[in-house]
Amino acid sequence: MEKLVALCKRRGFIYPGSEIYGGLANTWDYGPYGVLLKKNIKEQWWKTFVQERDDMVGLDAAILMNPKTWEASGHVTNFSDPLMDCKNCKERVRGDKLIEEKFGIEAVAGKSLKEIGNLIEKHKIPCPKCGKCNFTEARSFNLMFETHQGVIKEDSALVYLRPETAQGIFVNFKNIIDTTRVKVPFGIAQIGKAFRNEITPGNFTFRTREFEQMEIEFFIKPGTEKEWFEHWCEQAFKWFTDLGISKDKLRFRAHEKDELSHYSTMTKDIEFKFPFGKAGKKGEKTDDMWGELTGIAYRGNFDLSQHIKFSGQKLEYRDSQTNEVYIPHVIEPSFGADRAVLAFLINAYVEENLGEEGERTVMKFHPKIAPIKIAIFPLSKQLGEKAKEIYDTLKKDFMCEYDDSGSIGKRYRRQDEIGTPFCVTVDFETEGDQSVTIRNRDSMEQDRIPVAELREWFWKKI
Ligand code: ATP
Repeated sequence: MEKLVALCKRRGFIYPGSEIYGGLANTWDYGPYGVLLKKNIKEQWWKTFVQERDDMVGLDAAILMNPKTWEASGHVTNFSDPLMDCKNCKERVRGDKLIEEKFGIEAVAGKSLKEIGNLIEKHKIPCPKCGKCNFTEARSFNLMFETHQGVIKEDSALVYLRPETAQGIFVNFKNIIDTTRVKVPFGIAQIGKAFRNEITPGNFTFRTREFEQMEIEFFIKPGTEKEWFEHWCEQAFKWFTDLGISKDKLRFRAHEKDELSHYSTMTKDIEFKFPFGKAGKKGEKTDDMWGELTGIAYRGNFDLSQHIKFSGQKLEYRDSQTNEVYIPHVIEPSFGADRAVLAFLINAYVEENLGEEGERTVMKFHPKIAPIKIAIFPLSKQLGEKAKEIYDTLKKDFMCEYDDSGSIGKRYRRQDEIGTPFCVTVDFETEGDQSVTIRNRDSMEQDRIPVAELREWFWKKI
């Protein structure tokens, strides 16, 4: 992780937030290559789940919502974590996470605040900072960020920054049914920011207080949940592997019965092996920590029913063929965009020994998500005019970079580190044979390709 974090800073993927003011804890800014990577990942998600499907529409709802939304969804009363303070060193901890790290997530599922406190006491689970076990009682801490709308800071003006994008979808269910031609089964997809006042953010961008989600609410007829749940588990997993995440770094984890949210009866997470170096099961140091990338939950008709109750609106569906009226059930695949970016970064990072040529660090991104697709180099500055011409043509179709400084070897290394799959070199033969050399990032093999065929060649490869 240290090497990756350093590369992200050095090469302009991810910077610490507000750094010139000493930063703001656990905030991160995406630099020029990071923003491209993240944009590509979100675009691939949208393409796969909205554009290429016939049963999905998109939405972009407001972050600030009528606060009744969060009463209906259960967030005002239920969206909280057990917070404890170490009396010795004042460290703030999440009681549930302390137990989870020692005994696994099953041990904490369904436990009350009191039970969490007792378990920590009983097993003398130490403070991660000072090693003592001397905590305050566990108390419930709501994770929603509060702010005030308008000029008056009073309770009536209280609003929340949304803690998930999902509720923006549910409150628009009726609008979409009334204004588009969707028919159950269908889904609504949304990408956007969410905010949670996490007690223990950390592990780089894995857990932050401001993050982006890519969520789908897929509305189905009651009774068809088994097939659709399976369908979404498969599709979500496939999305990661199609974009190059290796299968051995991914796994499903089904939630235990008592770990399930109050509304959910089937939930599976897709987890990724993050190299965070947490303590292993018996306290031994391991290099990996399985962490959630995506959650797929069957939510029944909990959300729509709650919104019917709180809004008094009819959020039902009428089957135009049978005239049957019902409240659709929902399968929710919920992806974290920033966590996906982090997983793609970790998955791509490779150090290679090239023998006499030394070592190289390569980010082996799938070409579809690579920030820069093609780098164009003139072998010598004299060849700049021709190289610029190629660059100006290709950049209309692909994100390109022009580089004429330093040795070719150095230019390759730089592109390797930002994960550019192809480098085009214009050399002294180009004028004569109207061809250029394309160097492949992963195999380092070179192809001689006519300039006139470049555009098509790259479309095929990317
Ligand atoms: P966790 O158990 O890690 O807190 P969660 O189960 O609360 O996550 P969900 O509510 O299912 O997460 O949110 C869906 C997705 O949003 C997660 O799979 C994750 O990718 C992302 N996500 C949730 N919280 C954060 C966060 N604090 N920072 C970054 N991404 C997050």
